[in-house]
Amino acid sequence: MSFATIGIVGAGTMGHGIGHVCALAGQTVVLYDLDDARVAAGLKKVEVNLRKGVEKGKVTAEESAAALARMSGTSRLQNLADCDVVVEAVPENLSLKQELFRSLDGILAPGAVLATNTSSLSVAAIASVVADPSRVIGTHFFNPVHIMALLEVVVHVGTRADVLERTLAWGVAIGKECITVRDFPGFATSRLGVCLGMEAIRMVEEGVASAEDIDKAMVLGYRHPIGPLRLTDMVGLDVRLAIGEYLAGELGNAAFQPPQLMRRMVAEGKLGAKSGEGFYAWPK
Ligand code: NAD
Repeated sequence: MSFATIGIVGAGTMGHGIGHVCALAGQTVVLYDLDDARVAAGLKKVEVNLRKGVEKGKVTAEESAAALARMSGTSRLQNLADCDVVVEAVPENLSLKQELFRSLDGILAPGAVLATNTSSLSVAAIASVVADPSRVIGTHFFNPVHIMALLEVVVHVGTRADVLERTLAWGVAIGKECITVRDFPGFATSRLGVCLGMEAIRMVEEGVASAEDIDKAMVLGYRHPIGPLRLTDMVGLDVRLAIGEYLAGELGNAAFQPPQLMRRMVAEGKLGAKSGEGFYAWPK
């Protein structure tokens, strides 16, 4: 019912995390990226996170070793041919995702499912480039994937019922709580989360309070587990900027428009945790 062999396209923040949870759940994982160095970096991150899990007593050394043995990496897309599902986790850019889906469509078996980890883009638009859009679905994971419980499953109008069923069964098999959402810009999560994040950045820009105090307001005053600015750092300012621009256009709502401060920080390479600096310092 679920999937046994998982292909992942993009070994970055999300891709390596999705590989981690699938391998730990007993599935075979093939991690693909543009070159061997990026693939190796993704696999290394999984190894480091599993080691931390062992140190914290959340995973046994045997489970960690078995998970790593179930993972392999490749820089040849063709090597995903035997996968039951391929999850795409490349940057939030519609034409890039469409190009990949076109290529994957010609490689995968007709019964395989094509999933996208997009945070906001139209799943139907991504699906429109493949011969059989009914096998396409959104699987929106959260960062860090091995810690966050939610899997937002996004169905476009043409997604087949059996594709949804298998995806939900897979979500349960990898230990996630699933919600099913229709294919609207930003789905149920990014639409609310990004709106809050953009407003928090505007507040820093206007000098309302420091980033630390704005975050503290939401954590202590509203019981959010993490403030919107720290979360923006963790997601990546570049990733959120792309989502904000897209949602501002699609929803016709200026609240999603990325503030100048955000654009300047991205231009300066201050992308958050992954670059070492964002609203906070992130020492390696
Ligand atoms: P990232 O920049 O960390 O990683 C993207 C990876 O894709 C990189 O390793 C890059 O080398 C690779 N890549 C680029 N072009 C490629 C191609 N043509 N073929 C194969 N690989 C290619 O990005 P990310 O944060 O992991 O985001 C990936 C997707 O997940 C985006 O759609 C994003 O919106 C979504 N997402 C991100 C988060 C988050 O917190 N970062 C959360 C949920 C969803």
